[in-house]
Parts: sequence; structure tokens; C-alpha cells
Amino acid sequence: MSRIQLLDPRLANQIAAGEVVERPASVVKELLENALDAGAAHINVDVEQGGVRLVRVRDNGSGIPRDDLPLALSRHATSKIAAVEDLEAIGSLGFRGEALAAISSVSRLTLTSNDGADAEGWQVLVEGRDMAPVVSPAAHPQGTTVEMRDLFFNTPARRRFLRTEKTEFNHLEEVFRRIALSEFDTAFRLSHNQKVVHQLPVARDDAARAQRVGRLCGVAFMEQSVSVDIEAAGLRLHGWVGLPTFSRAQADLQYFYVNGRVIRDKVVNHAVRQAYSDVMYHGRHAAYVLFLELDPALVDVNVHPTKHEVRFREQRMVHDFLFRSLHRAVAELRPGQTPAPEV
Ligand code: ADP
Ligand code: MG
Repeated sequence: MSRIQLLDPRLANQIAAGEVVERPASVVKELLENALDAGAAHINVDVEQGGVRLVRVRDNGSGIPRDDLPLALSRHATSKIAAVEDLEAIGSLGFRGEALAAISSVSRLTLTSNDGADAEGWQVLVEGRDMAPVVSPAAHPQGTTVEMRDLFFNTPARRRFLRTEKTEFNHLEEVFRRIALSEFDTAFRLSHNQKVVHQLPVARDDAARAQRVGRLCGVAFMEQSVSVDIEAAGLRLHGWVGLPTFSRAQADLQYFYVNGRVIRDKVVNHAVRQAYSDVMYHGRHAAYVLFLELDPALVDVNVHPTKHEVRFREQRMVHDFLFRSLHRAVAELRPGQTPAPEV
């Protein structure tokens, strides 16, 4: 008798879900990325009980054609890439076709969408791994709503790893913040237990962008930071850097985006730390929201779904550009070093 068996596909999804869905925050990340990939101009996120009981993301993007609805929930099903060459130039946030399959295998998921082809929309519902998707008509304006309820209801071992409602919500809000800080052309709303936590209109000009950053990172940061915009040798660095007086005990207000993607990188961290080294007490951390733009050919975006790593082709050049730009900005900010006003 053979002891090796092929896993039932839904069970395989559940196992794979471990990599994609760790907690409600991971669900919010995946659903926000899907809405952005669909070109949504408005995205509403409603959550209950830290996202464990409910995460609902509603967008006004392209929508999903009726016949694609069950496919959207299958593993390795994506509309974003078709051939191996596409991997070289990924223009979307997603491409693995894993998220919806993973989420739907560990929750009760309803996907409602209207791609504009019919007046009404369509809905598909799955609960855990025991149900085949069923498509039925449902009213929905153009766009998509994904409603996830009862995360890990069928995987009690995973459910036990969830923390308190407050902790889960903090993780979720952080994911929302990271994304909302870079997608200024999209309006966002986040509500928790029916209370609106963030309401962010589209931010087209500098003033509106600064206002959004203030809403997400606090007014104190906006008051004690300056905006920078520096270009050299095909690199552009712009955003907001905190004054040394706004230093923090933890590195919890450091957002760095490369070509619109949030990343964590040693080269970047080192350059920033060096730029602040003269003015920052040991053990304190700078606060910043910075965007680096450069030729995509000069940077490898790590394609792991959750790690935010990049590899710069010209590490030295990027490091020196960041260091020089920030060093100058920070030096100009130093109290006592402000040039005396001309008489
Ligand atoms: P991926 O994003 O990697 O393609 P997902 O499992 O997240 O994989 O989504 C599967 C497919 O479902 C997507 O490729 C897309 O075609 C469709 N889809 C998911 N969410 C949305 C959305 N909000 N709007 C339009 N299409 C969506
Ligand atoms: Mg996706």
C-alpha cells in the first residue's frame, strides 16, 4: 500500500496560506494591493475586532468578469502575468495568484464584483476548504468588494497565535499607513468597529500630501520635519525628514520607498544613520518618510511576497547620494546653525 498521497487542493492551500496569511494585517495588505492593481481611485477598509472577525475591502477598480470569479480564488491563478518574460518587468504589486486562494482557505470569504459588463454584479462565496465556490448575482457598482470573516475559524492552532484586538489592529493600521503614504492618487478610508480611523482624500499637490502625511504620522512629525526634494545623477530623493529634535526611542517612524514600494535596506539605513550622526544622540532614531526614484533597471525588487528587500546595482552611488542629500538637509536644520537673517 502506498503511503504517499497527493494533498487535497484545499488542504494544500491551507498549508501554503501559512506563508501569506499570518494575521489580519496580512489580509489587509493583500486586499489593498489587489485594489490598487485594479486601478481603484477609492478604497474603503472596514474591520472589526482587530480584523479577526471582519476585514472588508471595497474598491471602484476594474472589477472581475463573472467567469473569472471562481478562478480568482484558485491557487496560481492571476491576470497579472502570463509568461516567464513578464517576471522581468512586473508592473503590479501582485503576480503570484496566491492571496485570495490562501485567504479563502482559512476564513469565510465573499468576493463580489462588477466589471462594468453587466448592470449588476456577481458574487462568489467560499468557507474554508470544504466548499466549492458558488456564483450568484449580487448588486454591486463597478469595482470589487472582498469580505473576509472569522480568520482561522477552521485552523484553531493558527487562531491561538493571534494577539489582542488592539495589537492586531495596530499591525493592520501600520500596513494601511505604509500603503496610504505612497499612493497619494488614491483616496482611502479605514474604519474599526464602525468608527472611522482614517479618512484620506486624494492628495494631488504638496499641501494635500503633507496633510495626508500629518494624518498618518501625526501633526508633531509634520511640525518638526522639513520637506526635501533633491535630484542628482538620475536619482531623485523627496519626502520629509524629521528634525534631530524629533528623534525617537524606536525606529518606528521610518518609511523608505523605492520606486513606490516600501523597503527595508541596510545600505539605506546606514546612509541615513551617518547623515544624522553629528546631530543625533546615540541610541535615538531619526523619523522620515522618503521616496527614492531611480531607473528600475538599477534596482532588483525582491519578489518574496512579504520581505521588503531590494538590491541596488550601484550600492555605493545610492549610498553616497542619500548620505550627501540628507546630510545637507539635516545640517541646514541644526538649531544654531541657521544662517543669520540678512540685514
Ligand atoms: P495576484 O494578485 O497575485 O494576481 P490574487 O490571489 O491576489 O493574486 O488575486 C487573483 C486575481 O483576482 C488577480 O490576478 C485579479 O485578476 C483578481 N482580483 C483580485 N482582487 C481584485 C480586485 N480588487 N479587483 C480586480 N481584480 C481582482
Ligand atoms: Mg494579489
